[in-house]
Amino acid sequence: MSFSDLGLEPGLVRAVAEKGYVTPTPIQRAAIPAVLAGRDVLAGAQTGTGKTAAFVLPILQRLRAPEGCAPRALVLTPTRELAAQVAESAAGYGRHSALRTTVIFGGVSEKPQIEALRAGCDVLIATPGRLLDLAGQRVLDLGAVRCCVLDEADRMLDMGFIHDIRRILKLLPRERQNLMFSATYSRDIRELAAGLLHEPLTIEVAPRNATAERIAQQVYRVPQAHKRHLLRHLIEDGRWQQVLVFTRTKHAANRLTQQLQGAGISAAAIHGNKSQSARTRALSDFRENRITALIATEVAARGLDIRELPHVVNFELPHVPEDYVHRIGRTARAGNSGAAISLVSPDEAPLLRDIEKLLGHPLPAAPLPQYPLPQTPDEVSAGQRPHAGAATPSSASAHRHESRRAPGHTMHGKRPSRGRPHHGHGSKPAAGHPRARRPL
Ligand code: AMP
Repeated sequence: MSFSDLGLEPGLVRAVAEKGYVTPTPIQRAAIPAVLAGRDVLAGAQTGTGKTAAFVLPILQRLRAPEGCAPRALVLTPTRELAAQVAESAAGYGRHSALRTTVIFGGVSEKPQIEALRAGCDVLIATPGRLLDLAGQRVLDLGAVRCCVLDEADRMLDMGFIHDIRRILKLLPRERQNLMFSATYSRDIRELAAGLLHEPLTIEVAPRNATAERIAQQVYRVPQAHKRHLLRHLIEDGRWQQVLVFTRTKHAANRLTQQLQGAGISAAAIHGNKSQSARTRALSDFRENRITALIATEVAARGLDIRELPHVVNFELPHVPEDYVHRIGRTARAGNSGAAISLVSPDEAPLLRDIEKLLGHPLPAAPLPQYPLPQTPDEVSAGQRPHAGAATPSSASAHRHESRRAPGHTMHGKRPSRGRPHHGHGSKPAAGHPRARRPL
């Protein structure tokens, strides 16, 4: 099946061909004809399925040509990054039409956005807060909206946007088409859908609450204090060029970024405390391979679409199990395969159990590779290079194993330094060793 078989007009078919798409993805096959026919749609589609084109292409076709000043299609997204991405996609798909796309989101000056709205737009992509601001100032007229899309609706509810969404919906004309996309289904999502959608076509392109099949998932059980050393080892040993790493807090993201940078790995953090320009710069540096590791918090990473992202690491597990599905959805997008690795410390065991319950299956635990720990001053002078991990399922057990050794056990004939565990086997001298490292 081709894009023209779906009923799309030649200009749009040409634009997707120029993007390099050959065949429509399952969600595109299901949604495009339905949206073209004017139906409401509820799509359970995770990120990476091609959902953006699934709604943008038919919307552009239905709008046909520019008309008036006020937007006739509105796409609501949870984050600025997703808004920017959807806008970029819409501009790309619409490149052979004269339709005008505008994007508005918070964290940047309103002025250029107000000017863009005044100049007239057909498709408006917006985050809820800024949309309400500008509508409140009467610089945005929502009275012409004929089609409303809630993209990543579950994220919007998780982020507490439900009241904003309800306020926005009240500003729209009653007669309109509604499309809702959500990776996961909670009771709140079902309630919102029931109130919003009229006899929707329900599309499910992946099993509900399941993770994409092509993502190889793996768990390393590792003490919290070792995580950064293991991560560094994985990046260096695997010669990773691009890895997206999730932390739970902004503080942890900053700290890990500095630690990786200190170890000679190019890294940048992306989180809510960063200015919009810093976030944009970090993202483009990452996309264009100028940095190896992007360290992100949940909110900042929502909706990020980085093509062919090969590695996602959960440095810390999320508190909300659904977030795991979103996080690892950043890899293996649109037909590519990827790896999602979770570093799980003993105190995170309950979080892992919740995730496995949601997925309906356990996540495979991998034996820890042997990763180097930084040297203490004692070890530097003794010429030792401590390791952890060494072929045990967890370095916690490696620790126990070592501590069961007879006092005076030596490594390379040297006594281990006091007050600090030595893990694993076969410590090698740091000096002159090809993989001797600066401490992380
Ligand atoms: P999305 O799920 O909309 O975030 O899309 C994920 C990625 O898939 C984006 O990078 C799109 O450019 C890409 N994509 C969308 N549709 C197709 C297609 N039919 N063939 C190949 N890639 C696609």
